Amino acid sequence: MTYLCIVLSTTKLIDIRSLSLEQLKDKLVEMGEQGFRAKQIYEWIWQKSAIDFDQMSNLSKELREKLKAGFTINFVKVKESQVSSDKTIKSSFSLYDGNIIEGVLIPTPDRMTACVSSQVGCSLTCKFCATGYMDRKRNLNADEIYDQVVLISKQAEDNYGIPLSNIVYMGMGEPLLNYANMMKSVERITAPDGLNMAAKRITVSTAGIAKMIKKLGDDEVRFNLALSLHAANDSKRNEIMPINEQNSLTALAEALRYYYSKTKNPVTFEYIVFHNFNDELQDAKELARFCKHVPCKVNIIEYNPISLADFVNAEADKIETFASYLRSQGVITNVRRSRGKDIDAACGQLAIKEKAN
Ligand code: SF4
Repeated sequence: MTYLCIVLSTTKLIDIRSLSLEQLKDKLVEMGEQGFRAKQIYEWIWQKSAIDFDQMSNLSKELREKLKAGFTINFVKVKESQVSSDKTIKSSFSLYDGNIIEGVLIPTPDRMTACVSSQVGCSLTCKFCATGYMDRKRNLNADEIYDQVVLISKQAEDNYGIPLSNIVYMGMGEPLLNYANMMKSVERITAPDGLNMAAKRITVSTAGIAKMIKKLGDDEVRFNLALSLHAANDSKRNEIMPINEQNSLTALAEALRYYYSKTKNPVTFEYIVFHNFNDELQDAKELARFCKHVPCKVNIIEYNPISLADFVNAEADKIETFASYLRSQGVITNVRRSRGKDIDAACGQLAIKEKAN
């Protein structure tokens, strides 16, 4: 009998993009290298999106070999892309551990927007959202959020010859439940040695975690905050967004006031007008009242039904009446048409369709 002895290395490679510049410097010094190399490496892994240490042509071969022995570069790959009749592109992305997420490029006449995911699945169970019916498997790392932006930005350039102008954290997951990685990804997207995009071009959307909204205030963030409201009445909101049970409208209003006092950033409320649920004048009145808590605007979003729930969008004239009432109360109100409906890329439709076998 032959015994094949397999020696498994127990050395775990460190994802080099999980390190701050300072941490990378320290590691290099520990390895007997000069600290300034960290800046060169940082440019390769963030600005130039290198996926292999051998691409780092201004480093010696010896250093590249040392890096390979201690580190890895986990990068996100496009698995599949679909183009909608309105030119929206939905992509599924594979992660280093086999998990799959989705992101969307939304081209409109005045902007190119990337919609990115922040978690694999979601732990919040909003009843109208396809992702809410999936389990939350894990948080995305900052580099995995960043890579989606880089890949979608490339799609914008390759397909439409226009650079990315905006980024919204409105894909799969609740960004404020992955706070540190969300913040780090924004830091890298806005950094001169990252993508150098203005923070004002980024919007983070939350289902409403009061404590974390306050934390955004304490951190004095410069990006925009959107709250998916969908009802300005606790019992209705509890029904469709169970997170409201621990984060009531009173708690959210207090958190938003605090956030505004620290950042001076107006807030966007997203509101889907569901047929026979929150489409009456009384609902519009409650929303207008809620808007008085903080400088804000309302985006009314078109809903795209999903097979898992039986919500439908209110009729167009009802939505118009709803919007007109808000405007009559001095609330800035936009009615947004949905994009990418034919490829399930619209708001609330992102979910990995698992094969039956
Ligand atoms: S709407 Fe957002 S927070 Fe709610 S289940 Fe969907 S992904 Fe999660």
